[in-house]
Amino acid sequence: MKFLSLIAAGILVLSGCAGAPSREPAHRGAPPASLPSTGPAPTQPGITTRPGAVVASPIEATGTRFIRVLLSGGTSGVVLEGETIRAWSVDGRLVAEAAGSVTLTVVGERIRWNGSRLLGDTLDAAGAPDLRVGTRKVAGRVRLIARKGELLAVAVVPIEAYVAAVVSREGAPRFHPEALAAQAVAARTYAVGAAAKPRDPAYDVVGSVEDQVFDGMDGVAAVFQEAADRTRGVVVRYRGELAQTVYHSTCGGRTEDAVSAWGKDVPYLRAQLCDDCADSPVYRWEYRMSGAEGRRVAKALGVPPGNDLRIAVAGRTPTGRASRVRISSRGVSRELQAAEFRKAAGYARIRSLKMEIVPVAGEWRITGEGWGHGVGMCQFGANGMARRGAGFREILARYYPGTEIKGETP
Ligand SMILES: [Zn+2]
Repeated sequence: MKFLSLIAAGILVLSGCAGAPSREPAHRGAPPASLPSTGPAPTQPGITTRPGAVVASPIEATGTRFIRVLLSGGTSGVVLEGETIRAWSVDGRLVAEAAGSVTLTVVGERIRWNGSRLLGDTLDAAGAPDLRVGTRKVAGRVRLIARKGELLAVAVVPIEAYVAAVVSREGAPRFHPEALAAQAVAARTYAVGAAAKPRDPAYDVVGSVEDQVFDGMDGVAAVFQEAADRTRGVVVRYRGELAQTVYHSTCGGRTEDAVSAWGKDVPYLRAQLCDDCADSPVYRWEYRMSGAEGRRVAKALGVPPGNDLRIAVAGRTPTGRASRVRISSRGVSRELQAAEFRKAAGYARIRSLKMEIVPVAGEWRITGEGWGHGVGMCQFGANGMARRGAGFREILARYYPGTEIKGETP
């Protein structure tokens, strides 16, 4: 999430969210309707001990659970970097080796190695001491697949390493360890569900906001690894099934009902009062929408803007968030989902739907509370609770009431 680093430095935890159907930055796709409970560790076809054990990674260890993360797709080439890079065919034969950097491209349904040799349609690559794929450092093996003229790069990551990496992007180092632990459990619950119900035959999740942001293992500070380690294997369940552990940066005082946000009631995703996020930098925010920007948004949403352009909240959910927005001008009036307006205006500008829109001298003064969809765990609220002495189980029980927090650790 490149945009995260561009936001004001004071905002350490942004709208990291799981579950928004709106493709909101740092929010993943539509909440899974029902995530099945996980069975045994998802086994990855083709993971066997490689003959080139010198660069084989810890993922080959037995008993480790993996998640397959799409690092890049929709491209025709990938650059791998490592002191030593080796590649195996799916049947385990070492087929290529290089030092420093290798460019892989697609030729039809085959992979070309460094502009010369044509290999098969699927390769497994690993590097020593590690492998970089584009900008990401990967712990373990990367599977490369030529498919319809595109090259997919899929990292096969031990699930606990993935959890630590996700927490490093969704949390902040200054967050309390109990809040980071709660975040780790939420991220793991999502990951375990996703691995049991893959997005694609070739991968379980996308390493971006559509699922959870995975930028590789760089910058995964010890606090994040500890959050994963000390909650190892712990997930949130509701009546035995994995829960939809959606989260967001800051609720602004009250979380949102899933039914209001997404039209589907989830018993453990109902509005909770939360006064623990008051120290969030986005507990209150303001955005001045210029006249030109208002006209751009109106036009994008199908209302030709004139001098009489009006933008107003036209409906609210029981927690006070905007549910409908009306845009009118030149005799055209359109009422739309507030989420649609937010998307068109920009998620980083309209940080939540807990907002007021006031016209001021040809502009709009938009004031609001919180950041994100507001459903499930409030990350700053979790941190506030932890600072008051709450443990991660207590935090999760508050934001996902009625669920069970279960795992291998007591
Ligand atoms: Zn809150």
